[in-house]
Amino acid sequence: MDKRDYYEVLGVSKTADENELKSAYRKLAMKYHPDRNPGDKTSEDSFKEAAEAYEILKDQQKRQMYDQFGHAGLSGAGGGGGFEGFGGFGGFDLSDALRAFMRDFGGGGGGGGFDFGFGDVFGGGGYERRSRGEDLKIRISLTLEEITKGIEKKVKVARLGTCDECNGSGAAPGHARSTCPDCKGHGQVRTISKTFLGTVQQVRTCQRCRGAGEIIAKPCTACGGEGRIRDMHTVNVKIPAGVSAGNYMTLESQGNVGINRSQSGNLIVIFDETEHDQFTRQGDNIVCQMPISFTLAALGGELSVPTIDGSHKLKIPSGSQSGRVFKIKGKGIPHLNSYGSGDELVQIMVWTPGKLSSEDKRILNQLSKSPSFVPPKSDKSFIQKLKESLGI
Ligand SMILES: [Zn+2]
Ligand SMILES: [Zn+2]
Repeated sequence: MDKRDYYEVLGVSKTADENELKSAYRKLAMKYHPDRNPGDKTSEDSFKEAAEAYEILKDQQKRQMYDQFGHAGLSGAGGGGGFEGFGGFGGFDLSDALRAFMRDFGGGGGGGGFDFGFGDVFGGGGYERRSRGEDLKIRISLTLEEITKGIEKKVKVARLGTCDECNGSGAAPGHARSTCPDCKGHGQVRTISKTFLGTVQQVRTCQRCRGAGEIIAKPCTACGGEGRIRDMHTVNVKIPAGVSAGNYMTLESQGNVGINRSQSGNLIVIFDETEHDQFTRQGDNIVCQMPISFTLAALGGELSVPTIDGSHKLKIPSGSQSGRVFKIKGKGIPHLNSYGSGDELVQIMVWTPGKLSSEDKRILNQLSKSPSFVPPKSDKSFIQKLKESLGI
């Protein structure tokens, strides 16, 4: 039998995109599905033909081969272009077609809305696969205040949760899961092959239930048989004091639930730090720059400085140079893995006034003549201290 052109089969143009291909295939598959046309050989052939055409055209590489060489480009000498997971080329049989159909439209989160009993038509192949739910990652932004105190946060996570309709079983109401007849629930089957070296026993995953040990005659329509469905899940995250950007916590079993009640995945919570308008973080120390008046720097006195949880009266000794750093012990961020906390480092910057009254000018002019107001020509230790306090 000569094969029809794949584009013609699907009724799409040569330039059809992924969505056009998918919807064309879906329409044909629904129309010719064996469940809707029991015993009709022509429908079965059309169903197979559509599945095969779609299987090729949705794959960019195969589509390219086909566009260039036609069917000959695919029947591929050496088998390079063959189907993975399907029974060889040219032999796209009904169970291949059904399997492809289930994979594209049957599983995945209730996209299908099919209500036929695939299990029966399948014969050789189930479509469920029990696997642990996927891990999910979320990021949480924390302020320095939150990091310093530690905080409990409720976060909403979009994930795949247990399907209420079937309570996670994946089976339609009234259609319980049943033990797989092929493997008797073991999920594996033993085959014996005779070779010239003797008899070889092989254990392989059961094709019918794909290792689950159970089959569903009629899948739940809400979740397509997976037993899970998109929902918003609220998680309480207890964040210890002292975490840093990039640190993460693993919350066990708070990720996607597993297919058909298998183990849930984990939720990985990664922390980010939001910028603070007064403080910067250096390890577990908190650094802040404080402008002070020229007179306070010269005469000394008290300066009120903000801390992460209030304020602190800092003594400024007379003759304090601009750039000098003062340490307020224990006012930093708690160490994550040990006792104690970092410090707050306050760097004073002498602020030069921009606007002066005539009286200010008069006094300053007078002061400028005083020898105490002339900076040393080269005060190495002064410059060195400034550099150190800036970390350069
Ligand atoms: Zn369900
Ligand atoms: Zn089985």
